[in-house]
Amino acid sequence: MVDPEGRSVILVVEDEPSYQDALNVGLTVEGFVVVAARNLEEARSLMTTAEPDLVLLDVMLPDGSGVDFCRELNASSTTPVIMVSARTSEVDIVLGLEIGAADYVTKPYRLRELVARIRAVLRRPVGESTSDEVITIGPLRMDLLRRAITRDGAEIELSRKEFDLLALLASRLGQVVTREHCLDTLWWGLELSDTRTLDTHIKRLRQKIELDPANPRHLLTIRGVGFRLDQ
Ligand code: CA
Repeated sequence: MVDPEGRSVILVVEDEPSYQDALNVGLTVEGFVVVAARNLEEARSLMTTAEPDLVLLDVMLPDGSGVDFCRELNASSTTPVIMVSARTSEVDIVLGLEIGAADYVTKPYRLRELVARIRAVLRRPVGESTSDEVITIGPLRMDLLRRAITRDGAEIELSRKEFDLLALLASRLGQVVTREHCLDTLWWGLELSDTRTLDTHIKRLRQKIELDPANPRHLLTIRGVGFRLDQ
């Protein structure tokens, strides 16, 4: 749908009325046109009638899975999808199954963060909604779709969790990712006080990706806050 004022149309697929209401108001205030679907059936019909520029898609819906719908959309259109997962444990599914989502957020999220993600995805050229599939970090090349990382063409072996952690940091390249966010996203259910697991993974990642693990150039610790992956 081409909005006469040139605003982007966001299809919000969400069955929780409180989230739907908040998004309706919040995204409209931010200058978007919101069309709302409470289930997949409505979403399918609105894909045709409203022709949204972006789909904000909840994972758990009354008549099916947002994950399946994301795959379906990815196969049939170039409309970017931002997945919304209710539990951080679902993030693993969203990240791991390579369903073609342009980005994801976890509930509860801040509207400001969501709007920033939406704007970032909308800025990507059409048909390149997955342009972030390959990330370059210094001499490293990280292929998110193949879940492979290479240095000067030579493959580096990472465990599943190591890869997910690096991918999480890479999704905020040059920005600090807090320890809480790492634990929350990748070790859901783990006591926040037990942060040794996270430190062990960071250490192993450094040994694998840094030329001098004792003096890391890319995977930096920001004392008392978290980590930052630098290009
Ligand atoms: Ca839901």
